[in-house]
Amino acid sequence: MSPLIGIELPVRNVLGVSVHPLSMPAVLQTLDRFLADERPHQVVTVNAEFVVRARRDAAFRRVLSASDLATVDGSLVALTLRYLHGVPARRVTGVDLIPQLARLAAERDCPVFLLGAGPGVAEAAGDRLRSLVPGLVIAGMYAGSPHPDEEERICAMIRLGAARVLLVAYGAPTQDFWIARNLQRLGPCVAIGVGGSFDYLAGVTPRAPSWLRRAGLEWLYRLVRQPSRWRRQLALPLFVYLAVRDVMLHRVCQIWVNEG
Ligand code: UDP
Repeated sequence: MSPLIGIELPVRNVLGVSVHPLSMPAVLQTLDRFLADERPHQVVTVNAEFVVRARRDAAFRRVLSASDLATVDGSLVALTLRYLHGVPARRVTGVDLIPQLARLAAERDCPVFLLGAGPGVAEAAGDRLRSLVPGLVIAGMYAGSPHPDEEERICAMIRLGAARVLLVAYGAPTQDFWIARNLQRLGPCVAIGVGGSFDYLAGVTPRAPSWLRRAGLEWLYRLVRQPSRWRRQLALPLFVYLAVRDVMLHRVCQIWVNEG
């Protein structure tokens, strides 16, 4: 899937969406190569909500398929890869990736820009990153708005700060559309939609305990804390239904071919 020349990434198709089932070190290695490149790159972090939305939203589907790297963010996507594709995939979430990417950016002298989230949250997340990663250069921290009226000003800020890494926290799919619309005017930078990660980094929202995350139940924790998410989380049972239906159809076709 990757339109990148010279980088061959393993690709799997999960219900019509291409993902790169890479481990955290392999994701960082890929991002390192993007940072060495003079072109902008878009990274998406795929979960079940992405997949369900992409099936009914052609524009979102195009954004995902044009991205340079699609990490496995959601536990249902990882489970599907593991049990239906036989790929030993593990989640690489935006929130886990950010400190490691910040470390890489500091080593490569690449300034990082934090865009989005509520008032003051990007600044608090940036401060936290600076405390975790000495030597990290922050190119800018700005909540702004994903409204198209603000885009030109925000892109100018990002270019002015010579940002090489752009973290966008406007929630999916808004953040991914924002990056896709503006990628070519950001300069040579790696842009990632990171959802609620700044809220976690800033300590505004607590993250699910690690045992719940290991059990694949982070979604349940988020639902209990923010019941208003119930509508978007309807995507989860729908994803399971589609995945099971896919397997059944595949098996029926196999039996048919073998007996035919
Ligand atoms: N957000 C924002 N502007 C908007 C809509 C959302 O800054 O117009 C931020 C919001 O404050 C939060 C993040 O986007 O920090 C979305 O987090 P959510 O938990 O919805 O994202 P997910 O991790 O589920 O993709």
